[in-house]
Amino acid sequence: MEILDQIIAVFTQIDQQVAAFRLASGLRCPSGCGCCCTNDNIHTTPLEMMPLAHDLLCRGEAQLWLDRIEAKKEDDHVCVFYVPGPLSDASSGHCTQYALRPAICRLFGFAAVRRRDGSLELAACKHLKQTHPQDVLRAKAYQNQAPCFTHFGTLLKTLDLFATDLMPINVALRKAILRLGLQMQMAHSEDQSGTSAA
Ligand code: SF4
Ligand code: SF4
Repeated sequence: MEILDQIIAVFTQIDQQVAAFRLASGLRCPSGCGCCCTNDNIHTTPLEMMPLAHDLLCRGEAQLWLDRIEAKKEDDHVCVFYVPGPLSDASSGHCTQYALRPAICRLFGFAAVRRRDGSLELAACKHLKQTHPQDVLRAKAYQNQAPCFTHFGTLLKTLDLFATDLMPINVALRKAILRLGLQMQMAHSEDQSGTSAA
């Protein structure tokens, strides 16, 4: 699907800019840290979840993950893909779907927001600010090179305006799976009727 290639192209751009910023500023996440994924208020869009949803559908795992979302307690909004580390140590958990994680997760660590005057302001993650305040302070000198939330949000909106409402990450995943699942079923039915007609 063309839109999936376009979304992945945006993810690649984000990763390249994050890597370049990391190199220039020296700012990086501590090895093995997964604190950001314990946040129970991560919001993203169905569009950003589509590559992952498509992958799960193709691997026949979509229903499994829909069931896991369904089975969560009403007040548990932590991402369904997060696996806590041993002894539930928040800082050592990990993402089970890292390669296809949405844009927001690629920008957790260090991205910039655009101020009203058009300049960029580094918005480093809370955990980094608490544990490595000096590194974050030094990195501010490079904030003009940081990947910009606003830029990538706008870029993604241009791909499909109707799938870019922000919502809790598990809800966005469910919507992406249901939408793509339906599209794939319809495409399959069209193929079948084309074959029968031939
Ligand atoms: S998709 Fe992965 S990186 Fe993003 S919140 Fe979920 S577990 Fe964390
Ligand atoms: S973004 Fe922050 S919380 Fe997430 S891995 Fe990096 S340092 Fe840890």
